Amino acid sequence: MNLDITARVHSQESAGAVDGPGLRYVIFLQGCPLRCKFCHNPDTWNIKGGEELSVRDLVNNVMKYKAFMQFSGGGVTVTGGEPLLQKKFIYELFSELKYKGVHTAIDTSGYTKIDDDLDKVLSVTDLVLLDLKHLNPKAHADLTGVGNDLVFEFLKLLHQKKIRTWIRYVVLAGINDSAVYAENFAKFIKEFDNVELVELLPYHEMGTDKWSQLGLKYQLSKENIPSREKLKEIADILAKYGIETHGA
Ligand code: SF4
Repeated sequence: MNLDITARVHSQESAGAVDGPGLRYVIFLQGCPLRCKFCHNPDTWNIKGGEELSVRDLVNNVMKYKAFMQFSGGGVTVTGGEPLLQKKFIYELFSELKYKGVHTAIDTSGYTKIDDDLDKVLSVTDLVLLDLKHLNPKAHADLTGVGNDLVFEFLKLLHQKKIRTWIRYVVLAGINDSAVYAENFAKFIKEFDNVELVELLPYHEMGTDKWSQLGLKYQLSKENIPSREKLKEIADILAKYGIETHGA
């Protein structure tokens, strides 16, 4: 294992409770090829930003919290940004963490090339949190700046490899909160028996300050915040297809 390989790291959180099971050490990597309109962390977009840290540095930090991670059924989640921009690093980090008995998860947009480095990363990944931004390619491009072909290929690969997967569905009023969309979403997801649950994440305006600090124009508004009734309706539709949801 190469403990000296480095990544650009935006930040670290020692007690995350929303990025996978249990209490988690969450590592935010720098760099993202997407430009999601609802992004909370536009300050992660620049791959040259953040701090350069090695696998050794991060594992040393993580191991201080091993007891509480294990007690709570938690582990480490690597997010971003888009963490799969730095696959070689994640492979080395997760290899070392697995060796030390730590549960590993990646939170990703799924927008990544399928290559040997990805196979290696997935061989040491216990859980993938896949942010499926929109099923329609045009709507996906409008929301994120990129199409969704790679995302679908990635989900197929997770299915082939039987990797435990949670899907994250950011619900935006007027964009992906209709009953018709939820039905299509449920029918699509149902085909993937590696998907254990769907997390329904209502859009909120957190992160807008960062956009203005970076001189970026924020295009969504309060009107995109979904109602409780809509969230319940979506959860009910997914339940009808036997899909468990969290967060609604
Ligand atoms: S993939 Fe994540 S980090 Fe990248 S723009 Fe979208 S929300 Fe932001």
